[in-house]
Amino acid sequence: MTRLIFLGPPGAGKGTQAKMLSDDCGVPHISTGDILRSAVVAGSDLGNQAEGYMNAGELVPDQLILDLIQERLNQADTETGWILDGFPRNLPQAEFLTHLLDQISQPADFVINLDVEDEIIVARLLNRGRQDDEEKVIRNRLQVYRQQTEPLIEFYRARQQLVSVDGNQTMEAVHGSLQRVIIG
Ligand code: AMP
Repeated sequence: MTRLIFLGPPGAGKGTQAKMLSDDCGVPHISTGDILRSAVVAGSDLGNQAEGYMNAGELVPDQLILDLIQERLNQADTETGWILDGFPRNLPQAEFLTHLLDQISQPADFVINLDVEDEIIVARLLNRGRQDDEEKVIRNRLQVYRQQTEPLIEFYRARQQLVSVDGNQTMEAVHGSLQRVIIG
């Protein structure tokens, strides 16, 4: 049973690390960014509503995300656990998640904060070449992260769920650190 929440700035390597751990542990990797990008490609209502916010580096409105995550965490493949990547992104989302996990009796084991320096983040994101990885948008996503998501570090620290992992290392070294956290 593995239930993890990943925090960290855009470009910290959350997606890559979450995917590797999901393979190690055999639990689904749930990325709200991936779900939204698929919705944009599919041209669904959700995608059409989310696209403008994503391209500007803003968070999409909570109302689009909360139902989606509730539905996803109620699917059968989450019985053995899950790894959340990109959710929660602000305090209302974190409060909603705490309540939801209580309701479905699935408390998170840890909240992992992948800690990475700003210069490294910008360099990594500029290299990635995703549609929302243009420099102006990157800077906005970093600002949105600092204002809305970073306060969650204190939220989870106060609940004694936070574990910080140094993300300024090679992909393999970060993976190793994360495996040690999970094994305990
Ligand atoms: P990510 O792949 O996690 O970097 O997410 C890409 C974009 O999707 C973000 O910049 C937001 O526009 C949107 N997004 C992803 N997850 C969330 C969330 N939990 N709340 C609001 N917007 C989100």
